[in-house]
Amino acid sequence: MRAHVPVLTLAIAALTMTSCTTPPPPAAQSGVKKQPFGKTPEGEPVELYTLTNKNGMEAAIMNRGAIVVSLKTPDRAGKLADVVLGFDTYDGYLQTNPYFGAVVGRYGNRIAKGKFKLNGKVYTLAKNNGENHLHGGIKGFDKVFWTAREAAGGEPRVELTYTSKDGEEGYPGTLAVTVAYTLTDKNELQIDYSATTDKDTVLNITNHSYFNLAAEGDILGHELTLNADRFTPVDAGLIPTGELRPVKGTPFDFTQATAIGARINADDQQIKLGKGYDHNYVLNRTGDGLSMAARAKDPKSGRVLEVWTTQPGVQFYTGNFLDGSIHGKGGRAYTQRSAFCLETQHYPDSPNHPDFPSVVLKPGEKHQSTTVFRFSAE
Ligand code: BGC
Repeated sequence: MRAHVPVLTLAIAALTMTSCTTPPPPAAQSGVKKQPFGKTPEGEPVELYTLTNKNGMEAAIMNRGAIVVSLKTPDRAGKLADVVLGFDTYDGYLQTNPYFGAVVGRYGNRIAKGKFKLNGKVYTLAKNNGENHLHGGIKGFDKVFWTAREAAGGEPRVELTYTSKDGEEGYPGTLAVTVAYTLTDKNELQIDYSATTDKDTVLNITNHSYFNLAAEGDILGHELTLNADRFTPVDAGLIPTGELRPVKGTPFDFTQATAIGARINADDQQIKLGKGYDHNYVLNRTGDGLSMAARAKDPKSGRVLEVWTTQPGVQFYTGNFLDGSIHGKGGRAYTQRSAFCLETQHYPDSPNHPDFPSVVLKPGEKHQSTTVFRFSAE
């Protein structure tokens, strides 16, 4: 029996030595990789920029639509999975595509009856959502080609620029827009938007990524917190009525972490109009800087997404119009509520609501806004 003691001691010593001498896993090669991502029907090459940070997290951005094609983040065991909906190939994005991962603009979300008045003049936009205008029109920022370039030095970053012509989709003014995606070493995908115009115009630019932190199944078990005491109720066309309604005592209250599915089928008029959540939340803000808008957690994988923004609102959309007819990555059928969106933004239809925060951009001014999608696991 006594002989066992030194053997055990030796084994422990060997283990200790092994753990002391085993080098830490190598840091991932951080940087930006540019690759071809198919061709347009006219034969033009499409580009995909893959940003990798030193933790191995990855974000792939396409020059068409400035689309986030994939976003690979670690779960609590460090296993990477792609947490956004989309397609494996460029051609996938040419089929029916409800703005997966795209930058939407010039005006994200709806403008009632496709009309608004600015400086006394009525502007008419395309009605591409029933009688309303949605996400910038027939060929919005999600369907145009952006000029992309890697930014030198620092954390992996790609900058995309686009010039929207005066009168494009009915909007006044030539608008020069830049969207920059940075993947930080803190596992954040930071999006910086900037824009200038040569005539008074309206602008509401956002990113329309569809998240599923489990990378499979539905998002009903994800626990969500929204830093908002009020939301903007809508009419049957999903246009805000103008009211800023307290969430307290309604299925819209996410001021405490609550499962997305807990009240999604509640007997509530607003839930029925949205077929679930499809509403703008009025963020509780202090000052102009980045402020926390939302936190979502998938209890199974442990993945957490925090959304920080300089914007006054966030559209919480639970993929209510997905019906399984779209087959995305790996042939997966995207069924209802298989993802959620947190579109940081100004309130929908603001050009027709003078009491909502202004969306007017004038010559000589610079629009600047930032949204950060911060990933972690617990
Ligand atoms: C809107 C939804 C719409 C979805 C896809 C969201 O921003 O609020 O009503 O179905 O985008 O277009």
